[in-house]
Amino acid sequence: MSQKTMLMAANFRSKKQAMWRGALGKCPACNTRSLFAKYLKIADKCGGGGLVLEGHQADDAPPYFTIFIVGHIIVPVALIVERSYQPPLLVHATVFCVLAIVVSLISLPIVKGAVVGLQWALRMHGFAEPDAQTDDM
Ligand SMILES: [Zn+2]
Repeated sequence: MSQKTMLMAANFRSKKQAMWRGALGKCPACNTRSLFAKYLKIADKCGGGGLVLEGHQADDAPPYFTIFIVGHIIVPVALIVERSYQPPLLVHATVFCVLAIVVSLISLPIVKGAVVGLQWALRMHGFAEPDAQTDDM
């Protein structure tokens, strides 16, 4: 194996693996359970490998994807329930509002972790190589 090939293998970051680790709340780099400091607060630094996580810029992507996912779960279920049982409107409103909130609260940290993992794998924002970060300014 040439030196260039070995260097490329050492720098390779798997997008799928990083997103999966992030979705499980684990550091995308070292797989220790230290991505989140609180419910949705990303830790400043990984407790395992010391990866600096405060440079992530997930911003509005996790809520956007969460709304997309929850909408595609709740709307078909609501339509199936309406076609099958025709419950009163108040039952529909109560059940599906609570269900939408619960599914959103469950999926939001999963989606946020996956987004941060993808950003790390793509070397975006604060996850770029130290010499490449000077190019951003
Ligand atoms: Zn780590």
